[in-house]
Amino acid sequence: MHGQMMSQPLLISSLITHAETYHQDGAIASVSTGGGIEETSWGQVARNSRKLASALSKLGLEPQARCGTIAWNNRRHLEIYFGTSGGGFVCHTINPRLFPEQLVYILNHARDKVLFIDKTFVPLVAAIRDKLEHLEHLVLMEGQDAGAAEALPGLVFYDDLIASGDDDYVWPEMDEFTASSLCYTSGTTGNPKGVLYSHRSTVLHAFAVNLADSVAIAARDVVLPVVPMFHVNAWGAPYACAMSGAALVLPGPGLDGPSLVGLIDRYKVSISLGVPTIWLGLLGEARKSGSKLESLKRTVVGGSACPPSMITAFREEYGVDTVHAWGMTEMSPIGTVNQPLAKHSDLSEEDQHSLRENQGRPVFGVELEILDDEGNPLPHDGEAQGALVTRGHWILDSYFLSTREQTLSNGWFDTGDVATMDRDGYVTIRDRSKDIIKSGGEWISSVELENIAIAHPKLADAAVIGARHPKWDERPVLVAVKGEGEEPDEAEVLAIFDGKIAKWQIPDRVVFTDVLPRNATGKVLKRNLRESFGDVLMGDA
Ligand code: AMP
Repeated sequence: MHGQMMSQPLLISSLITHAETYHQDGAIASVSTGGGIEETSWGQVARNSRKLASALSKLGLEPQARCGTIAWNNRRHLEIYFGTSGGGFVCHTINPRLFPEQLVYILNHARDKVLFIDKTFVPLVAAIRDKLEHLEHLVLMEGQDAGAAEALPGLVFYDDLIASGDDDYVWPEMDEFTASSLCYTSGTTGNPKGVLYSHRSTVLHAFAVNLADSVAIAARDVVLPVVPMFHVNAWGAPYACAMSGAALVLPGPGLDGPSLVGLIDRYKVSISLGVPTIWLGLLGEARKSGSKLESLKRTVVGGSACPPSMITAFREEYGVDTVHAWGMTEMSPIGTVNQPLAKHSDLSEEDQHSLRENQGRPVFGVELEILDDEGNPLPHDGEAQGALVTRGHWILDSYFLSTREQTLSNGWFDTGDVATMDRDGYVTIRDRSKDIIKSGGEWISSVELENIAIAHPKLADAAVIGARHPKWDERPVLVAVKGEGEEPDEAEVLAIFDGKIAKWQIPDRVVFTDVLPRNATGKVLKRNLRESFGDVLMGDA
């Protein structure tokens, strides 16, 4: 016997329809690519999204046609999110920081028919356009622009395209399992792989973002997604904000400290989301400018481990709650969020603070397990560490154009992270499995060492790698970038580890470098560091 409740498909168009119907005046502020701030509303964004869907249908695109975007976080990008997916097409966000060969690979692999670009990326696209095998329509996300048209013959202008759409366009009904958007992982090795989200997974994920023990976005919030819209759909923030009716501040190309502090203060931002490096810049600027970041309630940090020193700085200097979260492209991305339990209110203040440092516990809809080398589950005791695997409503089943068998093992997806989990499900990410340091049969977490090193007042950046060692197989080496005007020596740097970790875990060497190599999403390329510095200990006995 079936339950006798209505069955309505979970569609992305229902999110924007909700925002249009009940939050039409909800504010959207968007920094334009050429500078200047545009102020609009959910009502206007919804109308433009429908017109865009209508215009794309008139171009004769078949359902599920991939529409690429190479763009900043801005108002037109938001409309493309809803207009493409809502109209039955696939919104394919592309990371502009990839190498040109990778961009060509991704656009051809996805068979993108349409490509929307911000003006910043005209030269980038002009250089690769001839290699894009399936591209039929190239759209500049602006009004008419003679210079861009000259660089890219046949260029269409977004504002003209919208104008050709119908005002009375009605969102199509479709199966909720229909593909809605596509994002390629920017792995540190091999070709990027596509993760194809569905309407259902996206709407369920938006519910999860909005749970009280998750990011908890409410209609009265003002949300600043600094995490790019080309990186896992800005962690789902645009969908979650449409669902809740929250105001959005889209920062455009300016992700530097002064621009972000300016936006937070001007628009009274209450929640911001981004990777740790962004917040280091922001903290530096806030200190310099004297801003108190008064409106900011919490900042959601993920993408790589959030250094405890940053959590302390936000709390003690600005009264801002740092919410540490973990996830990945393959998980839409939310997996765990660090929010306390009732019993934690009895802990000392210091213990409560240190509890906020780990990556948090799973939100409903995500299951996690840690496995030993044979694939057996390990105890959830906060001590045993193993491969972190997952399954759930918004976890990928197979990569785009790949199979389930090639992607999963016993129905679980291996995240590639090594972690511990305690009895309440709080996860501590120890490392990427390929970066963990194996020293004389013992494991050392490079993340733990980096978290300590980054707090050194004379360092600007730090990464730890396992360097080959004649006796211990591998030993930790700290690759450090000196702070501006600082000249610390090795002993001075290593002193920061004293008393914080066991002596045998302290790095054997510090090598200084000018800048750490990072991939397109800002993750340190440890493979490159191992190539450069992996043999520095081979002379040691
Ligand atoms: P991406 O798919 O580019 O978002 O990368 C996902 C990977 O980033 C994860 O598998 C982790 O290795 C890493 N990551 C994400 N969030 C965190 C976090 N809070 N702490 C440590 N590592 C993280």
